[in-house]
Amino acid sequence: MTDQDLAASPWQGELAPDRAYNLLIDGEFVGSEDGRTFQCEYPATGEKWGSVPAATTGDVDRAVQAAHRAFEGGWSTTRPGERSKLLRRLADLLVEDARNLGYLQVHENGKLLSEMIATGDRMAEHAHFYAGLAETMHGESGRSNVPNTTSYSVREPIGVCAAITPWNSPLALLGWKLFPALAAGNTIVIKPSEVTPLSTLRLGELCMKAGIPAGVVNIVTGDGAVGAALVEHPLVEKIAFTGATSTGLRISQVAAARNARVTLELGGKSPNIVFDDADLDKAIDGIIAGIFSSTGQACISGSRILVQDTIGPDFFAELVRRVEAMRIGDPLDPRSQIAPLACRPHFNKVVGFFDVATAQGATAITGGGQPGDPALAGGLYVQPTLFTGVENHFRIAQEEVFGPIGAILRFRDEDEAVRIANDTEFGLAAGIWTESVRRAHRMAARIRAGSVWVNTYRPAEMARPFGGYKKSGIGREMGIHALDHYTEEKSIYLAH
Ligand code: NAD
Repeated sequence: MTDQDLAASPWQGELAPDRAYNLLIDGEFVGSEDGRTFQCEYPATGEKWGSVPAATTGDVDRAVQAAHRAFEGGWSTTRPGERSKLLRRLADLLVEDARNLGYLQVHENGKLLSEMIATGDRMAEHAHFYAGLAETMHGESGRSNVPNTTSYSVREPIGVCAAITPWNSPLALLGWKLFPALAAGNTIVIKPSEVTPLSTLRLGELCMKAGIPAGVVNIVTGDGAVGAALVEHPLVEKIAFTGATSTGLRISQVAAARNARVTLELGGKSPNIVFDDADLDKAIDGIIAGIFSSTGQACISGSRILVQDTIGPDFFAELVRRVEAMRIGDPLDPRSQIAPLACRPHFNKVVGFFDVATAQGATAITGGGQPGDPALAGGLYVQPTLFTGVENHFRIAQEEVFGPIGAILRFRDEDEAVRIANDTEFGLAAGIWTESVRRAHRMAARIRAGSVWVNTYRPAEMARPFGGYKKSGIGREMGIHALDHYTEEKSIYLAH
């Protein structure tokens, strides 16, 4: 898509900013039981737009009952080829609607249009991937050890799944749950973040257009209480959650009480480690991509930047020069590189970390406040910021900020780099910058994290599992084995 295509806003017609959206329950778009609604806020200007139903626990129950009926009523036993066909149709619609989905997300979470516009195509690839896998959900068979008996196993869908998602990549992170769930023959009730509900409701419209039967995909919008009602519902057999670690831990406790299955994708505090034998020019780009893409609002942000102590001041001077050349601005402007933060409470939390870091003795070598440009005054903007003088026990090195703030730490050798890198309660991702293949393998083996990048940062492909060690999560999304989290395996024995 060219910059010119992007400049032609679709912000009209069926996407008009004053449009009212509805919940998706049993194939119908309906208001909430008590008629209450709320609005989204565009983080670049503070303007309110859209109208979203605030679901009640009664609405959650209706959605779960509908999903249960659809599961029992035939979806769980549809031919895999039929489910594949529907997923592929949905994939085509995602590509067609990519610009709308991009605009909606930008107006919800303020992320750059250039990042959000890619969502439709990327999700379509994921949908095709799981459409293919729907037909390969084999069990096992073999010669039985039990005399005169044949045995085999089959994979079956689990039942009603709940997908509870955050605001930072509302659609992509939903696709990681929705596509394997449907491919395996489950039904689903989706609860998007209250900050970003409309792009998910738009996706619900595409699901209906694709011909996915009533009740198979349901969407309830509202705050955390709506998510909690889903987690507590006795007919919800599996919960797939992406969000804050504290929320995830609460969800897993509630789910454990009734043995509901849970996968969790939680927070991170990922190290991005630069050795003196690295291509330092590329490493600087990697540091910037690691911490400042998505304005730092990514679970995989490389927020702890570990730099070997033999690397001198020129490196930092060049790093600061490139950070200060970054353009902070309107997320719809293709030249912008740093967008506003997603919502006011989050903005307050991120800004609070400037004081937290300096109070413990850290110094900002760049940034450290809000941009002075009056054109940005109405938006939730903060400067891209790097702190030095950080020790790994500082809060800025241990807590997830989820904003454009990086903490720089120094290390002597591999052992110390590994010790610092692993000295965190998280284990989501890590970057390693070195030209030594041996060192790359040694370090990748010693880092306790679900994704390790060498001489690159951020790529995540659908064929590779994604998830966290330690408090960064349980289970893996993407990849072939994501289907394991959406199926039960049954063993069958036949006496001859
Ligand atoms: P959040 O935990 O506040 O909210 C996530 C979702 O949970 C929202 O839909 C919210 O309404 C719902 N929720 C809140 N309380 C609930 C409860 N008690 N029961 C059920 N649902 C509840 O997270 P957020 O602020 O929206 O997202 C940011 C967080 O997400 C960050 O910590 C980030 O690291 C994490 N994240 C992780 C990954 C990953 O893949 N590991 C990816 C993106 C974001």
